[in-house]
Amino acid sequence: MVADLGSGAFSNLLVHRELGSIDAVVISHMHADHFIDVIPMRYALKYGDAYRGVKIALYLPPGGEALLRRLTDAFPREAQGDFLSDTFDVRSYDPEQTLRIGEIAVRFAPTAHYVPTFAMRFEADRKSVTYSADTAPDERVARLARETSIFVCEATLSTAAENETPRGHSSAREAAEMAAVAGVERLLLTHYPATRDAAAIATEARAVFTGSLQVTDDGFAFGV
Ligand SMILES: [Zn+2]
Ligand SMILES: [Zn+2]
Repeated sequence: MVADLGSGAFSNLLVHRELGSIDAVVISHMHADHFIDVIPMRYALKYGDAYRGVKIALYLPPGGEALLRRLTDAFPREAQGDFLSDTFDVRSYDPEQTLRIGEIAVRFAPTAHYVPTFAMRFEADRKSVTYSADTAPDERVARLARETSIFVCEATLSTAAENETPRGHSSAREAAEMAAVAGVERLLLTHYPATRDAAAIATEARAVFTGSLQVTDDGFAFGV
């Protein structure tokens, strides 16, 4: 299962996983940096070697399918088939319900962002990964992450930008605060500008969160 597919994520994903081993994609919100690589994935599934006629379940937030179809409707029609439905089983998830994908239970929490956005908690075998998606500091996200094994949290803003309004993102310090409140085992920070220094981000976060912490970059892999 894959959580979000922003630009570049699909090619990075293929470094770690064979396309044929992916059963589902879950999208947190309909900002392009979280879903746009569904499009190259579709081409790989439709025309690539790995395609074996098995559709990948594509779980979108409420309203997401209409937006994605508006986008894909702009492409010239191909000889046959629907742009998405040949390769994906397109579904909307209900963020108030637990979604089951194989052995994994997925729970959602709305976040504080500019469009409807859902943090996700993936749980199997008493291990869990919670992913903040995009969010300003939000107790609903911290609640979802409570005592999670790994909390993957965004750290978009510099501390100086904490006074921005309206707020839809967190600083590393604020991500670490959510992690501390939630009592997570391990914090992984992500979704920060490429121009920012990872060591500085880690220092900001370590001032607040004393547990295991890492600032991640493309290609970072972790086990649960
Ligand atoms: Zn966003
Ligand atoms: Zn984003």
